[in-house]
Amino acid sequence: MGSERIRKIIHVDMDAFYASVEIRDRPELAGQPVVVGGPPAGRGVVLAASYEARKFGIRSAMPSAAAHRRNPDTIFLPPNFEKYRAASGQIREIFHRYTGLVEPLSLDEAYLDVTDRLDEIPSATWIAQAIKRDIREETGLTASAGVAPNKFLAKIASDEKKPDGLFVIRPQDVARFLETLPLAKVPGIGKATRARFAELGVSTCGELQQLPRPLLDRHFGKRGGYFYNMARGIDERRVEPDRLRKSVGIEDTFAEDQVDPEWLRQKLIDLTIGLERRLRSSGVKGRTVTLKVRFADFHTITRSRTLDQFTDEAATIRPQAEGLLAGCLNLEEPVRLLGVSLSNLDNQPEEAEAGDQLALPGIGEGG
Ligand SMILES: [Mg+2]
Repeated sequence: MGSERIRKIIHVDMDAFYASVEIRDRPELAGQPVVVGGPPAGRGVVLAASYEARKFGIRSAMPSAAAHRRNPDTIFLPPNFEKYRAASGQIREIFHRYTGLVEPLSLDEAYLDVTDRLDEIPSATWIAQAIKRDIREETGLTASAGVAPNKFLAKIASDEKKPDGLFVIRPQDVARFLETLPLAKVPGIGKATRARFAELGVSTCGELQQLPRPLLDRHFGKRGGYFYNMARGIDERRVEPDRLRKSVGIEDTFAEDQVDPEWLRQKLIDLTIGLERRLRSSGVKGRTVTLKVRFADFHTITRSRTLDQFTDEAATIRPQAEGLLAGCLNLEEPVRLLGVSLSNLDNQPEEAEAGDQLALPGIGEGG
């Protein structure tokens, strides 16, 4: 235990995620109070509120009707989960550039353990800054990040400076940080629990540290141990990497639509080199190469081939992708996006062997 390396955990949380995606795609909404959720006339709830809407006290999970009462000028938009999933996929690709130890909590939140990257990279704080920058440049969205020695503290840290924030709790800062940390900021402590702590004269983690363990057990049963450790900044939970990750991919939307097959082939070769880099940093190999082509009219097709062996090498992926591309370009239609991805990854618990054959062409439709 004493020889165990202090871990470096980053918690990344997108700012007002669904609302921010909508505002990004409709710039005329910038600076407006925007809610994604049910219409105010119905019985729906707020799924996400822009920071302008939050100024009126509008919060997630509040009934839309109540949000409308707080500010009748609020703009209500229905959710578009396809868009949020696409942005979430982009964000996860960015995380995997920096470590394979990524544990997504939801579409817009994840823990990363970067401890083992610190021999190559100057600091966890530098990685958090780089991730925030990549997300901003590639998705047009902002994220907040927390850096700390464990998950519990990293999650609290990411909330400290929202939006577009970065907050670092160094191991030597933990005791001082907890001393005054209000219980209201602690995940897993709701209103009712706070009221019970208030009866014990406790409203901060520092005060909670004064309560003996048997007293916590008596009052809170099984949760007593959690509170005891939490107040001391102790959290042994590991970051559980995303076992359900199904593919690693890369794509590019061109500044201008392209029709020249040689230009497109060259672009595809560049993409396979980028894909190789992502596969390596994620520590996975895959067997199924999928090409995605989006035409000028947004019509999108995908074509796949499955290899007989796992690979993470551009040299192996490239001829497959080129073959797939050649089969797609007989339409003389301008192309606006090319993507290439690898699925059938070797990180899956159980692989189905049946039906997988070398160079078996697959046909799919993309959105
Ligand atoms: Mg969020």
